[in-house]
Amino acid sequence: MLHVHSYAAGRWVAPGSGARTIQSAITGEIIADAGNDTLDVQAMIAYGRDVGGPTLRAMTFHDRARMLKTLALHLRDHRQTLYDLSFNSGGTQSDHLIDVDGGIGTMLVYASKGRRELPDNQVFLDGDLDQLGRTGTFMGHHICTPLQGVAVHINAFNFPVWGMLEKLAPTLLGGMPAIIKPATATCYVTEACVRIMLQSGILPDGALQLVSGGIGDMLDHLDCMDVVTFTGSANTALKLRGNTNLLQNSVRFTAEQDSLNASVLGPDALPGTPEFDLFIKEVQHEMITKAGQKCTAVRRILVPQAASEATIDALRDRLANVTLGDTRDKNTQMGALVSNAQKFDVLDKAALIGSEATRVFGDPESHAMSDSKGAFLPPMLYHCADPDNAQHVHDTEAFGPVSTIMPYRDLAHACTLLNKGKGSLVASVITRDGDVAREIVKQSAAFHGRLYFNNRDSMAEATGHGAPLPHMVHGGPGRAGGGEELGGVRAVMHYMQRTAIQGGPDIISAIGGKWTPGASVQADKPHPFTRTFQEVQVGDTLHTDAREITLDDIEKFAHFTGDLFYGHMDEDAAKANPFFPGRVAHGYLILSFAAGLFVQPDPGPVLANTGLDNLRFMKPVQPGDSIKVQLTVKAKTPRNDDYGEVRWHVDVHNQDDDKVAEYELLTMNAF
Ligand code: NAP
Repeated sequence: MLHVHSYAAGRWVAPGSGARTIQSAITGEIIADAGNDTLDVQAMIAYGRDVGGPTLRAMTFHDRARMLKTLALHLRDHRQTLYDLSFNSGGTQSDHLIDVDGGIGTMLVYASKGRRELPDNQVFLDGDLDQLGRTGTFMGHHICTPLQGVAVHINAFNFPVWGMLEKLAPTLLGGMPAIIKPATATCYVTEACVRIMLQSGILPDGALQLVSGGIGDMLDHLDCMDVVTFTGSANTALKLRGNTNLLQNSVRFTAEQDSLNASVLGPDALPGTPEFDLFIKEVQHEMITKAGQKCTAVRRILVPQAASEATIDALRDRLANVTLGDTRDKNTQMGALVSNAQKFDVLDKAALIGSEATRVFGDPESHAMSDSKGAFLPPMLYHCADPDNAQHVHDTEAFGPVSTIMPYRDLAHACTLLNKGKGSLVASVITRDGDVAREIVKQSAAFHGRLYFNNRDSMAEATGHGAPLPHMVHGGPGRAGGGEELGGVRAVMHYMQRTAIQGGPDIISAIGGKWTPGASVQADKPHPFTRTFQEVQVGDTLHTDAREITLDDIEKFAHFTGDLFYGHMDEDAAKANPFFPGRVAHGYLILSFAAGLFVQPDPGPVLANTGLDNLRFMKPVQPGDSIKVQLTVKAKTPRNDDYGEVRWHVDVHNQDDDKVAEYELLTMNAF
């Protein structure tokens, strides 16, 4: 028997009074207990806020991203322990891969995004600078800094590892400590994962705590700097989001709830097409993965009226081949539900659906594991012939291997049925017709957190209807909880406060660690190309000499490159153009000559030019004009231990000091 501990204020706490027992999904035997109603939840909050928070906030985004990468690789080395424990939760080895490897993969994506998309700084600059005064001495920017509290993550039973890591990664990357409260039914897997992370010594003290069992009155002690995220059923979410203390203190509350996700067979994807076969495969996969205990599983199967019978037959055939059994058996394709309580809940909900639909596959009384004491159910497929006059098929989530086929008359009808879920995490559409996809987006996208389109052209690389990806937002409106998770660095912002900063360019530059046009520069140092990544500083500037541009330069450039555009070559035609006073220099000539003015040619720390951003040509350059360049270090981003990216602000002016071009140049510089 496992005694599942909590980790509170720096020490492990064993189950005590009020502990609950946990059953094996496969055998029904009691395998663990968890919970202790004397857990000092206030001390946990204080430990996170006072010990974990300050250390995390002192680190930069890149420090935290490196920490996440080390942590994820450490978990990967120890994942067998997690697989071994997970069999008791009813999942198969491929279910564990989704949970364990999916969670570790998500953490690795955040580690990578943190270093590529966030600065090596404590402050994140959100969006672009806005000039608020006429001459550029007063401007505005939005910044994000970490909330100075704790993030309390209350998770569902079905993904004890992924459910924790997909929230933990953006939380830590954002600089907040976390208190994890997994669902009791599978908390023994989460506890093992937390032990692996804590014993690694990679995380600072106070960054991660764990509540196994009940959370007590923790929510009553949170304040405006804390965050609560909830994943679970709509009923529990309703109870928790109404907590008076959370409401009084405007504590951020994100809910990821249940959802009546649908998959639509496009009108073009009839039997006989590769799309029809793909549809059947994806729906079957969604029904049996995690025995249907997936928040994104397909609950409603919408098919053209004419394809209804063929869909029932094809799904019946595929489901008949699914091996239901003990999850340690390699041939098992579908395991058990998490507990017998969950199984009975699913049967109750299936009975409601059955009052409006006919069961066309799967008998809960008679299947391969009928004699087992475990929580086994077969896949159960229903057919609702009149979905317009049905209610339960659209609003009752049987959180198990239960789905309902419903016919639609035309695309508008399909969208009406889709939207009857009143907000879902994901809807998939199997179609090769761009007009079908566009129409569904117009009529239904607002009802769904994610729309997944697939067909023969994309299926080899498609990631699956039910897989939330770290890159894409996960969450949905209405019934799905109204929350949002993942979506790349968007998720990190849930743990930070966005603040509007107004001030002069020097102040804005100092806050963001990024040079702002109009801010002071240092122009009296050696050529910046001669200084290493560490030596060169934000604000370092080079003013070049001027170079005259002649008609001969333009001619030579035109014939050398083959760019004989009339604006450069034909005086009359150029004059007739509203933008040109006559023949003008090529924009690329200006860029090339600008490089010729600012480049320091000797071998040195600048390794390569890796690109230009935000290029604008503001004023034409005519033969006889001269240009000069101001090159300023705008930002620095380390890329690895050997080199980093330097972003240079480049202004090109003419002899009258009018700006003719502006851009950002990117170079890789050696350390
Ligand atoms: P649940 O019964 O609502 O429980 C969810 C979590 O809330 C568990 O950790 C539970 O802890 C906790 N909880 C329950 N009552 C609480 C209270 N009064 N105070 C504090 N915490 C409380 O849901 P579940 O059965 O674990 O999960 C299944 C549901 O989750 C399904 O409906 C599924 O659709 C949904 N789900 C949604 C997503 C998503 O991303 N949208 C993902 C996965 C699952 P105990 O276990 O200790 O009671």
